[in-house]
Amino acid sequence: MKLDILPVTNPKPGLSEETDLAFGRTFTDRMFVMQYDTGKGWHSARIEPYGPFSLDPAAMVLHYSQEIFEGLKAFRRPDGKVALFRPSDNVTRFNLSAQRMCMPEVDNEFFLDAILKLVQLESDWVPFSEGTSLYIRPTMIATEAMLGVRPADQYLCYVILSPVGAYYKGGIAPVKIWISDHYVRATQGGTGEAKTGGNYAASLYAAKEAAENGYDQVLWLDAKERKYVEEVGSMNMFFLYDDKIVTSPLRGTVLDGITRRSVLTLCKEMGYDIEERALTVDEVMEGIGNGRLKEAFGTGTAVVISPVGSFCYKGESVSFNNGDPGELTMKLYKTLTDIQYGRKADPHGWVTIL
Ligand SMILES: *Cc1c(COP(=O)(O)O)cnc(C)c1O
Repeated sequence: MKLDILPVTNPKPGLSEETDLAFGRTFTDRMFVMQYDTGKGWHSARIEPYGPFSLDPAAMVLHYSQEIFEGLKAFRRPDGKVALFRPSDNVTRFNLSAQRMCMPEVDNEFFLDAILKLVQLESDWVPFSEGTSLYIRPTMIATEAMLGVRPADQYLCYVILSPVGAYYKGGIAPVKIWISDHYVRATQGGTGEAKTGGNYAASLYAAKEAAENGYDQVLWLDAKERKYVEEVGSMNMFFLYDDKIVTSPLRGTVLDGITRRSVLTLCKEMGYDIEERALTVDEVMEGIGNGRLKEAFGTGTAVVISPVGSFCYKGESVSFNNGDPGELTMKLYKTLTDIQYGRKADPHGWVTIL
């Protein structure tokens, strides 16, 4: 398939106050788009000016949420070049989500090349300031106009880009985590492993409850027993428990995070024992007091590593010392961001430089 590149008709002023960029509100001049029709396959791939789509009100995505997405970042390196972090892993996961949602897969190589081409054309939008990056959002939606429930015969796949400010301004700040004892995110056999919009719509109610109680994020328990901690809204969870690294296994209820994968590799290299097992909520709540739980942090593309300062479960709250981020948490944050921004060698071949 060929990729058409259309001229930008109405360029925006570009980046001004880099450090004030709010997450996901500013978009660049161009986007990648391609269409799918059953029988014809993917076609009409192009990079065109960023702008609204025209959708039929009966478009299936608007009714039954046949939608998937991805999130990855491009980083500005000290030499001015731009690099993406493990982009082919995101393309592979995009196709796994597509399979689960009965959507057509994309050609891995073509789609990865299209993303790289788009970022290259928009590379002026990759900010320079410390901690900033260009967030990349591949998306696929069912566009066929039909109110029956079945996989659609028409799709739109697109990629938009958003320059984002430093997640942590004025130092890495621990988050307050609300453990939901009632609402759940994913069940075995459900869609928890797919990056599909419906999972996030379903999570909003508990997130609102957390916010009303002064907490930043929801930590989900397993749906069956409400006993084991699984993951946070858009982060996998890690615990330094009995001096081992403990994180939930991938059993279909937890998203297979690329940051999770990277952190597991780094922890192994640092010599830690790793246990992919589900910690119980009691181990978490009692662990700080009895000294077995030394650190907890979340991992995800947006935050990279997010230290946890406190947990609240059934009205009881526990906090780490002064709420300061742990030593290992900070070391992992530095190691991973040094690789992403090209301040350190990349022995694992994680970085694709444009
Ligand atoms: C995207 C996401 C993550 C983090 O995945 P990364 O590949 O590390 O960005 C974790 N949990 C959920 C539910 C997610 O949607």
